Amino acid sequence: MSRGPSVAVIGGGIAGLVCANRLAQLGISNVVVFDTGRHGPGGRCSSRHVNISGRLQTFDHSAQYFTVSDSRFAKVVSYLDRKGAIKIWHGKLGTLKRGKFTEDKNLTQAFIGKTGMEDIPKCLAETLNVKQGTWAGNVVWEGTAGKWNVDRHGMFDYLVIAHNGKCADKLMSNAGAAAVHKLTQVRFSDRLNPKDKRMHLCSIWALLVCFPKSLELKFEGAHVFDDEDISWLANNTAKLSNGHQSPQQECWTVFSTRQFGTKHKCSQENIPPGVEREVKSRLLEGVRRVIGVTCLPEPIYTRVQLWGAAVPLNVLQGGEECVFDGRCNVGICGDWLTSPCIQGAAVSGLALAEKIHKHATGENKSSTSILPEFKAADGEVIGAFPTNSQMVFHKT
Ligand SMILES: Cc1cc2nc3c(=O)[nH]c(=O)nc-3n(C[C@H](O)[C@H](O)[C@H](O)COP(=O)(O)OP(=O)(O)OC[C@H]3O[C@@H](n4cnc5c(N)ncnc54)[C@H](O)[C@@H]3O)c2cc1C
Repeated sequence: MSRGPSVAVIGGGIAGLVCANRLAQLGISNVVVFDTGRHGPGGRCSSRHVNISGRLQTFDHSAQYFTVSDSRFAKVVSYLDRKGAIKIWHGKLGTLKRGKFTEDKNLTQAFIGKTGMEDIPKCLAETLNVKQGTWAGNVVWEGTAGKWNVDRHGMFDYLVIAHNGKCADKLMSNAGAAAVHKLTQVRFSDRLNPKDKRMHLCSIWALLVCFPKSLELKFEGAHVFDDEDISWLANNTAKLSNGHQSPQQECWTVFSTRQFGTKHKCSQENIPPGVEREVKSRLLEGVRRVIGVTCLPEPIYTRVQLWGAAVPLNVLQGGEECVFDGRCNVGICGDWLTSPCIQGAAVSGLALAEKIHKHATGENKSSTSILPEFKAADGEVIGAFPTNSQMVFHKT
C-alpha cells in the first residue's frame, strides 16, 4: 500500500506533531518526526516531574492551558478529548493586581493535559514515527534528485521546519532554500522594533517552587499585569489534583515578565550560579509582593529555568498560517506564523499539511508568499491566547 511521499518533520512540538498527524490522515504516512526532547516530544508544551521528599510532583513549566476559537483546532481538541488526554481546568483563573484577584468570567473553557500539559504531545505522538532525543543538524536540498538529505537519516521528498529561533536559522543557513532561510532569522528582545523585519522572540524565566503547606489563595492561576518581574502564577497541585490535594506540599509555577527575561538573559543551558540565585530570590520576592503577603513559607524545592526563545512578539503577515516553497519542497509551521499559543501552533501545522498534500497530489503546485513581513502578535499575556474565546467546545 502506498504511504505517499516521504516527509521529514524537524521539531516535535505541537505544530510538528499536528502537521504529521494531518499528513497521515490525508494519506501521507511515510513521515518521520525528529525531536530533540530527551524525555518526550512537546517542546514548549511539556511538564517536569520532580521527586520532592518522596512525592512525585508534576510541574507544567511552559504552556499552562489553552483555549479554542478555531473550528479546525476544535477537531484536534475533540480527538484529544476522545483519547482522554485533556480536561477542563475548573479552578479559578483571572488576573492579579496589587494583591487583588479578579476572576476572568469571560474565559469560557481553559483546557489542560489530564495529568500535565505533556499529555497533549504524548497523545499526538502515539501513532507517529517520532525519533526522540534526535537533533537534526544538517539538511540539504539535493536539487537534481529532488529530495532533502537529512543528516544521516536519509533522503526525504519533503522537509517541514517545525521550530523557530536560532536552531531553525542555523539549520536553514546552508540548506539551499534562501527564501525560507530569510524568514528564520531572529532577534531576541522584549519589545518590537517595527523597522526590524525579523522574527522577535522574547525570553521568560520560570520558577518552579514547592511550599510545605498551602498558600491558601483563592485562585489557581493568575495573569499579573502590574508587576515588573512577575507575569503569571499557577498552583500546579490544585490544577492537577482533581480536588485531592496533599496538605503537605503545594507546587507553583511562576513566570517572569519578558522585561525581566531580557534583563537576566544568559545561556539557558549553562545558567551561572550567581544569576540563578538572583533570579530565584527576585521571583520569590515577586510572588510575595503580587499575592500581597508579608512572608512566604520556606520553600522545600525551587528550580529556575530560562525559556530563552519563549514566545514570538510578532507573527508573519499575510494570513497564510504556514509557509511553503514548492520549488524545493520545504515548508515551515509553528506558532510564530499565526499566533503564539497552542492553538496557533496547531493551526499552522494543519495548514502546512494541507499545502504539502495538495502539492504532492499535483492539485496545487504554488508556493505561499514568503516575504519576511511581520506584524505584532495580539495580546500581552504569555501565549497571547484568546482567553475570551466565544467558541465553547462540545464533546463529540
Ligand atoms: C513559558 C511559556 C508559557 C506559555 N504558556 C502558554 C499557555 O499557557 N497557553 C498557550 O496556548 N501557549 C503558551 N505558550 C506558547 C506555546 O507553548 C507555544 O506557542 C507552542 O507550544 C509552540 O509550539 P511549536 O510547535 O510551534 O514550537 P515548539 O514547542 O518550540 O516545538 C519545536 C520543537 O522542535 C525541537 N527542535 C528544535 N530544533 C530542532 C532540531 N534541529 N532537530 C530536532 N528537533 C528540534 C524543539 O526541541 C521543540 O521540541 C507558552 C510558552 C512559553 C515559553
